[in-house]
Amino acid sequence: MVIDALEFARAGQVLEGTVVAREFTRLCQDLPEPQDAGFSWCLAGRQDAVSGLMWLDVRAQGNVRVICQRCMRPFQLALRVDNTLGLVRDTAQLEAMDALETEDDDPGPEYVVADRHLDVPALIEDELILVLPYAPRHDVCPDASDGSPRPGQAKPSPFAVLEQLRKH
Ligand SMILES: [Zn+2]
Repeated sequence: MVIDALEFARAGQVLEGTVVAREFTRLCQDLPEPQDAGFSWCLAGRQDAVSGLMWLDVRAQGNVRVICQRCMRPFQLALRVDNTLGLVRDTAQLEAMDALETEDDDPGPEYVVADRHLDVPALIEDELILVLPYAPRHDVCPDASDGSPRPGQAKPSPFAVLEQLRKH
């Protein structure tokens, strides 16, 4: 599925679809099998009526199977992409936009050179790779018998500790 990014944005086109995670081979290359959960995605183009700037809104959500780096068990991790890419015509314009951005602290939108042969699934996959955590973890691991404290578990109060000491 290949689009001309500028034409797509100018015409205000929308593409959407679903894909099974394992088809994103780059995303899944270091992840455990099976990758049978689905992703839904949407790509929408638009042009700003005043500035003439063109944008691609990229959205995707779904699950990948990952290994928790705390308990080493696999689990389904939800990934969510909601990004807007500004389209520029060439690298000179890209440099001009990047130069504008450094003038204040606001990181601002991300600009990319518009591709006349933009591979849509590859773009979606690139965005998912960016949000995939380097060391995924359960919010709360299913079995905490290894004694490591879980988030939200109250620490013993210093008074309780003193009470324990007094008994000995
Ligand atoms: Zn875990």
